[in-house]
Amino acid sequence: MTKLALFDGSPVRTKPFPAYKPIGEEEVAAAKAVVESGVLSAYLGAWHDDFYGGPQVRAFEADWAKAYQAKHAISVNSCTSGLYASVGAAGVGPGDEVIVSPYTMSASATAAIVFNGVPVFADIDPQTYCLDPKSIQARITERTKAIIVVHIFGQSADMDPIMELADQHDLTVIEDCAQAPCATYKGRPVGTLGHLGVFSLNYHKHIHSGEGGMITTNDDGLADRCQLIRNHGEAVVEAKGTKNLVNMIGFNFRLGEIEAAIGQAQLKKAPDLVSQRQNNVAYLENKLSGLPGLGMPKAQEKSAHAYYVHALDYDPSVTGVVRETIVAALRAELPVSEMREREGTLVSGGYVKPLYLQPMYRELVGYGTVSCPFTCPHYGGTVDYSEGICPEAEAAHNTTLISHELMRPPMTETDLDDVANAFHKVFENLDDLKNAKAVP
Ligand SMILES: *Cc1c(COP(=O)(O)O)cnc(C)c1O
Repeated sequence: MTKLALFDGSPVRTKPFPAYKPIGEEEVAAAKAVVESGVLSAYLGAWHDDFYGGPQVRAFEADWAKAYQAKHAISVNSCTSGLYASVGAAGVGPGDEVIVSPYTMSASATAAIVFNGVPVFADIDPQTYCLDPKSIQARITERTKAIIVVHIFGQSADMDPIMELADQHDLTVIEDCAQAPCATYKGRPVGTLGHLGVFSLNYHKHIHSGEGGMITTNDDGLADRCQLIRNHGEAVVEAKGTKNLVNMIGFNFRLGEIEAAIGQAQLKKAPDLVSQRQNNVAYLENKLSGLPGLGMPKAQEKSAHAYYVHALDYDPSVTGVVRETIVAALRAELPVSEMREREGTLVSGGYVKPLYLQPMYRELVGYGTVSCPFTCPHYGGTVDYSEGICPEAEAAHNTTLISHELMRPPMTETDLDDVANAFHKVFENLDDLKNAKAVP
């Protein structure tokens, strides 16, 4: 048995893993052409043909709609702004509740608050880490207006029962697809399984334009409202003849022409980039299977996982070693990745703290000093953001889940072997880790 790097043995590998860099010549050419044209954005915040943006924005939207089999694709300058526009388009307002997963990036829930809605957190299914339909059902009240489903880590939530609930209770379903481009659910692409889907094009996502986002919908009315919220709706409704003024408080969520040109090139690369991740995960899982206490994500039937994160289930009661110790030992064996050196080795325990444990929810301070929207007089309910409301999300974060991002292209089989060897080495030394009380 070789000594763990954590205890001053030699690590499995020190040479950095290759950088994930989906940007190449195509993107350089696309960006250059826009810069040379001088038209870096053609939007007008008034009722005019250019209300819908310039040529690159429109071409990008047309390509995206085709790729995702959506009637409408509406570009925005981030997934966050796309979520805000979607919640606004759904008509959420003071007094409304929005059911959302707590196990996600903060914007998924903040989107409700922006329109004075109150986020109600439902628990996750520990198999997929996505919202559990049974928990959603238990949280529905007469105040519920919408559900924000997050396809976390790149795997679709179980959408059929969620859409059934939405139909029964007349709720709008927004899919946060930031981590799930090219993911499918029972053969259908995510993004149009609900009423609105929102994607991210930020630097850390599978494909990116630096910053950016895209909304997909098959509903003409929702598309129209998203476009108004994106581009100064309040100033446009009169000339456009829009009668429903609800939430027509406009923003500037417009994507630039450079980003839209880069986005078109990126969109073409997405299927291949995602399938490389799927192949790498299959290769890794084959090598990791059988390690004690370690479980692989369970693929839903006929559904494709996009693997933004390769989330492994870990049960410390099987090994007798706490998750943090396993993670520290793995990190000691493995190198950083190029371009992301400052983040350290891309293996971690848990994901984000369940959102209701953040200060905004703990202290109920949103708008101003009067606890709006949490105790807004228009809100007839009472919020419950106490620890313990979503035990599965808390367990996933605190004890069970190991997440890592070492399956991104261009990782080769040799690189992946190093990852697998590090896991094997750590799991062969569980006794040493058990005895090391002070780790990490
Ligand atoms: C990245 C991410 C977002 C936000 O995306 P931006 O484009 O950075 O605004 C929202 N939700 C989830 C689940 C994400 O991973």
